[in-house]
Amino acid sequence: MRRSLVAANWKMNGSAESIAELLGALRQSLDGFAAADVLVCPPMPYLDLCGRLLEGSAIRLGAQNAHEAPSGAFTGETAVSMLQDFGVSHVILGHSERRQLFGETDAQVVAKCVAAQEQGIEPVLCVGETLQEREAGQAEAVVARQLKAVLDVCAPENLVVAYEPVWAIGTGQTATPLQAQQMHAFIREQVAARSTEVADSMRILYGGSVNAENAAQLFAERDIDGGLVGGASLKPTEFITICKSVSG
Ligand code: PEP
Repeated sequence: MRRSLVAANWKMNGSAESIAELLGALRQSLDGFAAADVLVCPPMPYLDLCGRLLEGSAIRLGAQNAHEAPSGAFTGETAVSMLQDFGVSHVILGHSERRQLFGETDAQVVAKCVAAQEQGIEPVLCVGETLQEREAGQAEAVVARQLKAVLDVCAPENLVVAYEPVWAIGTGQTATPLQAQQMHAFIREQVAARSTEVADSMRILYGGSVNAENAAQLFAERDIDGGLVGGASLKPTEFITICKSVSG
């Protein structure tokens, strides 16, 4: 039985004040919540604040990105070892915004996953096709390529995969539960070809316009083990409802 995970990707949003308010609300409703793991991924400058605000809470702290090098002349970047100092358990890697807006390649994503795993931080590896790729019938090939790059090198047992169709991110256009389930099953098959045991235990999250209305239906699918939530994770009531939508 896989334990669900609901992860909040706050992207580049928030302030010290709004984050304290948001975490206060989340803690009030979710501190005793045992049905799933909950993870919040704030912008880097707020990791310290969030770590302190989450003291004594089961809500986990994650980061949205990291650099693959341990240190050096990489102005503006953050090493994985630095994330460790703030008690980060997970790091989102290969998000489509990183791939599309910052030109991250599969090779870079792999290097980041390796660095994270070496430091004991679990990557939340994002994979997903664009609308053009889906319409061209290439969705599975794209996801298989992104996944293979990482599975060839990284320890799959310390990996969360997030299927995030690019056309569903921030658009309000969610994949149907069937579309999402089909891709999640495909992802699990790819992992099973290497190890059925790891495939059975790997958490595969769905991301792309998850909200309080559609979460329960998505999470009820056999191979959907929770969600990676962007916009809706900034609204406490909505995010709490999403967390409570995990299937038993
Ligand atoms: C995301 O950024 O990972 C995401 C899924 O965003 P949204 O929920 O806003 O589509």
